[in-house]
Amino acid sequence: MNSVIKTCFAVVLAANSVWVSASDDVRGQAITIQEAARADLTGYHLVRDLTTEVGARMPGTEADKRGVDWMVKRFKALGFDKVWTEPVTFPNWVRGAEKAWVNAPFKQDLHITALGGSVGTEGPVSGDVVMFADLESLKQADPALVAGKIVYVAKRMFRHIEGAGYGEAVVARAQGAGVAAEKGAAAFLIRSIGTDSHRFPHTGMMSARPNIVAAALSNPDADQLERLLAKHAISVTIDVNAGFQGEYTSHNVIADITGSEFPEEIILIGGHLDSWDLGTGAIDDGAGIGITTGAAVQFLKQGQRPKRTIRVVAFANEEQGLIGAYHYAKAHEAELDKHIVASESDFGAGPVWSWVTNIDEPLPTWMNVAREVMMGLEIPYRGNHATGGGPDIIPLFQKGVKVFRLNQDGRDYFDLHHTADDTFDKIDRDAFQQNVAAWATMLYFFAQQPAVATEQK
Ligand code: ZN
Ligand code: ZN
Repeated sequence: MNSVIKTCFAVVLAANSVWVSASDDVRGQAITIQEAARADLTGYHLVRDLTTEVGARMPGTEADKRGVDWMVKRFKALGFDKVWTEPVTFPNWVRGAEKAWVNAPFKQDLHITALGGSVGTEGPVSGDVVMFADLESLKQADPALVAGKIVYVAKRMFRHIEGAGYGEAVVARAQGAGVAAEKGAAAFLIRSIGTDSHRFPHTGMMSARPNIVAAALSNPDADQLERLLAKHAISVTIDVNAGFQGEYTSHNVIADITGSEFPEEIILIGGHLDSWDLGTGAIDDGAGIGITTGAAVQFLKQGQRPKRTIRVVAFANEEQGLIGAYHYAKAHEAELDKHIVASESDFGAGPVWSWVTNIDEPLPTWMNVAREVMMGLEIPYRGNHATGGGPDIIPLFQKGVKVFRLNQDGRDYFDLHHTADDTFDKIDRDAFQQNVAAWATMLYFFAQQPAVATEQK
């Protein structure tokens, strides 16, 4: 593919020799760093080691602390010239044992996991199950139908390259238990927000703080429950130990490669260091930390510092509400006008298939070169379609920081997301390396070229 693209460049060169001759050097350097990044396994080894030597990194656990210490050490070992932590304090949600089963008419176990923020049952809670197709029909239900019952919401997430099914389905996880509790329900169950057919339930945070237990059934268990409900009245028991226990202080881990010409100007990239507790946080989001760090270190390996500062942030506690991200935006508020552009990798390790920015037209010349060089990885520019730059970038985006996003193929992401199946073996190395190369290319242009993003603020 690279040779085809280079041939295309030659054609463009002939047709636009005035600006291309000035950009030729830039193109050559960008291609050099892109190819070096694709071959270099630093980022891949980072996610391998993080998921092996630390494992799951749920906020508030001792592994969260080990993860922070590990990340500081790894950033330093890789040669970042400034590495530091910033404290992030949040309510500490703890998961204990969790189980559920059908009592009658056919006794059998159900595979569940508590949703983040759920209370425990303090002993088994039993009730008849009442099913709703989606959150909206639960909202419209007569409370008399719900009171004392175990509410089950059946909405199934559909598969989509950009994860479009997630937003539509996840509202039931975020709000459903709160709505059910207001109507007097005894407990709340959802079909997992996931696209797989494995017997792994998907956890994830609720936005509400209901006083009833809330849990997700794996997709096959949800199917089973629905088959039972189609013919019978069903009684289920839930026994979950969970709840908030005081506060915990974790840390954002921040690492800079200080710029050689404009050290105060920052290109911010990264991922979130925390994960849920069920898997080892490989695709969510060890991959994002590995991809972005692997891209940044290309500048260290080439022995040529970037003109602007490249900052990698390993955010604390994204999973329970972008808590580290909001902390960063607040703590760095006075210098956000020096954040030239920001982006996070937090959608697994599938190949990048397009990129977007919220940089306004007309694009500067170097952006045209960037578009061509990204085509070397088969990644077309889709224009001004940025969606906040990634979850942990939203607080910066809201304060006016320019963003870009490398869109990954997420068709498999929600098979694994927030389950026990989110482990290192699920990362495809070639796809991972294509990500690293794409990020290194973006870093090259944003760190080295004229700061159009700043001028447009
Ligand atoms: Zn994530
Ligand atoms: Zn997540």
